[in-house]
Amino acid sequence: MLEIQKRLSAYNFSSRNGSSIKYLVLHYTGNKGDTANDNATYFGGGNRNASAHYFIDDNEIVQVVEESNSAWAVGDGAGEYGITNRNSISIEMCCNSDGEVSEKTEANALELVKSLMDKYNIATTNVVRHYDASRKICPNWSSNNWDRWVNFKKKLGDSTIVENIVVTKPTTSVTDYSKYANYVGNRCKELQTLLIALGYKCGGYGADGKFGKGTYDSLIQFQKDYGLKVDGLAGTNTFDKLYELIASKNSSYKVKITASVLNVRKGAGTNYSIATTVKKNEVYTIVEEKNGWGRLKSGAGWISLSYTIRI
Ligand SMILES: [Zn+2]
Repeated sequence: MLEIQKRLSAYNFSSRNGSSIKYLVLHYTGNKGDTANDNATYFGGGNRNASAHYFIDDNEIVQVVEESNSAWAVGDGAGEYGITNRNSISIEMCCNSDGEVSEKTEANALELVKSLMDKYNIATTNVVRHYDASRKICPNWSSNNWDRWVNFKKKLGDSTIVENIVVTKPTTSVTDYSKYANYVGNRCKELQTLLIALGYKCGGYGADGKFGKGTYDSLIQFQKDYGLKVDGLAGTNTFDKLYELIASKNSSYKVKITASVLNVRKGAGTNYSIATTVKKNEVYTIVEEKNGWGRLKSGAGWISLSYTIRI
């Protein structure tokens, strides 16, 4: 295995508060042509509301956060699937110029994972993706029914993983979209407009009001991404979720912190525990308000808006 280069950040971590390390979580950076060192510089340079323990590229493994501390990498799952920042070590794989994890980077990650499994007595079943913690498509190896992930697990000797058990792509080979088109009826264009506003492509024709493969695929992906029933039928729950996301997208704004140090709490109130802190003059995006508190876009938690100015 490559020697670990330590470039510990003074920012972007918290205490494990007594939690033991139970999971190793794999990520990809999603950048194009970044290096482990680039990331160490970035996460060492200030509060980023995010981090990982390790960054790996073709040539280096760079450690940014001590294993004894929590990195900020899987907080978006809020522990829903049992994997938290406090009970995991996060490993980010850098990407090549196409934004993909190279074979070499993957091989380096595999070596690090093996050594950490040994060190903390972690079973292969607890080597997981960011996806397993929050359903975020990370590492972005989902395009072929997670085959690449399945292979990665097999290389670790995981005998429990079943080929393609985690299916994120529609398995149906739908060619006749009339059922779906009839179901959405005159709301098809509305559906497409909403999906497109949220970054789903709906094929190459934009919001043309015709329900075809592009719209179907985008709708299926949207339903998967947000934990809705994956049926390709745009019902009330799907529309409600679309409007909820659009509303939060439109109502976001930026604030600058005015207190010297401000607690970020897990909920909107001082009765919630502290997730992290932010500092004076830092700028954050607020995506939701509740009782004078604002939820940070990063997912880190809530801050009291009394100690901020809107910019
Ligand atoms: Zn990730």
